[in-house]
Amino acid sequence: MRSKTSQRLSDFSQTSMSSEFARCRPTCFRCFRPRITCMCRSLTPFQSDPELVILIHPRETKRAIGTARLAHLSIQNSVLIRGDAPMLDRDSRLRSWAEDTDRRSVVLFPGPGSLDLDDSGTDLSTLVSAPRGIRVFVIDGTWSEARKMVQRSEVLSRMPQIMFRPDRPSNYRIRKQPKPVCVSTIEAIHALLERCAERGLGRLPEGHAHDGLLDVFERMVDLQIVCRDGAAFTKAASE
Ligand SMILES: [Zn+2]
Repeated sequence: MRSKTSQRLSDFSQTSMSSEFARCRPTCFRCFRPRITCMCRSLTPFQSDPELVILIHPRETKRAIGTARLAHLSIQNSVLIRGDAPMLDRDSRLRSWAEDTDRRSVVLFPGPGSLDLDDSGTDLSTLVSAPRGIRVFVIDGTWSEARKMVQRSEVLSRMPQIMFRPDRPSNYRIRKQPKPVCVSTIEAIHALLERCAERGLGRLPEGHAHDGLLDVFERMVDLQIVCRDGAAFTKAASE
């Protein structure tokens, strides 16, 4: 899959990128990206176990290089909710999920009290024993936005927190990460699914379809770099 992606990118980069990007760009209303960099055909759809609810901070929806929507479009049974802490607390779905004892809700957020999925000594028995497994809330936003969402939301702050330790640096070459351990939302979801499967909290999709998350992410980053360099070239040429 990666070699095909590289080939397509190579073809793509040979087009007149700078002139294309200088024009008014029609938008894909599925992935919310300019049509010329639409990612919809690069998605690998699959069902995830555990269930995922992706909470997207309002400011993150305005960032063209966000990854939460790509993850949501790939994971067919995921739910994407936009809102800050007060908005989330008013959402009846969140309240109902938080009280669901058949499927335990947890939030992916590293903190002193978080259950570390990478620590074999962590007792996960209350989560493993949930009749229908777990539902993980993943927050898409900056580190500071995510922390405020967890702290200020009455619903989220009461949920058990889980975390993992990224075993490789982020491939987010177009967005500076505040710490080496920070990864993009789509990379975090990929790692989360692997950890959950290892710890008996879920199952990986057939054919490792979740690896498509990293493939579409890599393609998005590559295209963004081509666009950025094309725009810089156009600017330099016009000066
Ligand atoms: Zn699209």
